[in-house]
Amino acid sequence: MKLILFLLFSASLYALPFNLIKKGDENASSTLLVIGGIHGNEPGGYFAASILATHYKIEKNALWVVPNLNAPSIQANKRGINGDMNRKFHKIAPNDPDTNRVKQIKKIILSPKVSLVLNLHDGHGFYRKKYQGSIFNPNAWGQTCVIDQCEINTTKRFAKLDKIANSVKNSINKKLIKKHHAFDVKNTNTKFDDEAMRKSLTFFAVTHNKPAFAIETSKNLTSLTQKVFYQLLAIEEFMKITGVKYQRDFNMNIENIKKLVQNYGFLYINDKIVLNLSDIKKTLRFIPLKSIHNTFRFTHPLGSVKRDKSGFYNIYIGNKRLTALFPQYFEIAKDCPVTTTVLLNKKKHKVKIPSEFFVKGSFVVKRMDNIRVNVIGFSSKQGIDESEIRIPYGRLNKSYSIDRNNLIYRVEFYKANEFCGMSLIHFRK
Ligand SMILES: [Zn+2]
Repeated sequence: MKLILFLLFSASLYALPFNLIKKGDENASSTLLVIGGIHGNEPGGYFAASILATHYKIEKNALWVVPNLNAPSIQANKRGINGDMNRKFHKIAPNDPDTNRVKQIKKIILSPKVSLVLNLHDGHGFYRKKYQGSIFNPNAWGQTCVIDQCEINTTKRFAKLDKIANSVKNSINKKLIKKHHAFDVKNTNTKFDDEAMRKSLTFFAVTHNKPAFAIETSKNLTSLTQKVFYQLLAIEEFMKITGVKYQRDFNMNIENIKKLVQNYGFLYINDKIVLNLSDIKKTLRFIPLKSIHNTFRFTHPLGSVKRDKSGFYNIYIGNKRLTALFPQYFEIAKDCPVTTTVLLNKKKHKVKIPSEFFVKGSFVVKRMDNIRVNVIGFSSKQGIDESEIRIPYGRLNKSYSIDRNNLIYRVEFYKANEFCGMSLIHFRK
């Protein structure tokens, strides 16, 4: 099955098979590289990376974020649909489907600009030095800062890996939600003790004298929000250590992170259609698409599309399948208007096509030359063009809303039999 990924952030980097978001100073003396999604079933890591990419402003030095390294496995919610990508950094067969991803991320890791690398995971259980049961034991990975060795052989900064990992651990442990979430440092002593880890991303980095750490939150934490919370605490500590100054646009607490994790942003299709993905219904029908070459742009760095064999489009954010779009095929009209006028409380508002427009009570879409207005879920008695009609909330058929709260409706514009565009009318409660 074909995987299609079109991401709003990646316009200048279209050649990469994942998203790379660069923030801060291009000529920084310190650049922190954060990698999420090497394992597709570890959402704490990639949702944290995605929040980092969209809700942090870098004021000094630089932050590079790859939120979706193994994007096809994220969509499938599997560790690795082509096997474990984190065992492919020593050797990889040229015909391995992961070859390009591994090759490209290696190049980024080895970029002279990158000062320190973080690889984000959700691991099993809660790491304890002594065995305390099947969840709390020395073989668990959860709630650790993982290093491959105590230090690396370089005169460059950040060479003392154990010292850095310990200070990160100590800082996180001051902010625990529950006592048993305590972090520890796990040194895998990779060179001597851990054959499997010699094939890992971090070991590749440290053998090239590049400081690298893995952060493992626990798969046994009760919510995605908690995992993201601990990932962000760890990343912020690494930003402090590397001198990357930041501002975030939210206060760090569980309630705020929950809201951010559930905010899926917007999907733009062919630059003609916009869909608000938060609270979107599980299926949407009669979406005006082209029969081929549709372009999908997400405001969320983890957005992706997969076309089903039978022709509909599955829309994902990370490992969550949000909705299925069932198309109705149209030709796209030429020279379409890029705005329309909506009358609200007798006041005229210019509304972009496509965009989401908030209304209270009722609205009127003003008439445009040669354009037919179709408000989906409204049936008029006057004819097929629904401009110049006052439409109150109560006259809309709720089964045509795009959201589960029945507040958001499609207003579509056509020129003869060709599609011109769509905007959303969003009723305030
Ligand atoms: Zn992992």
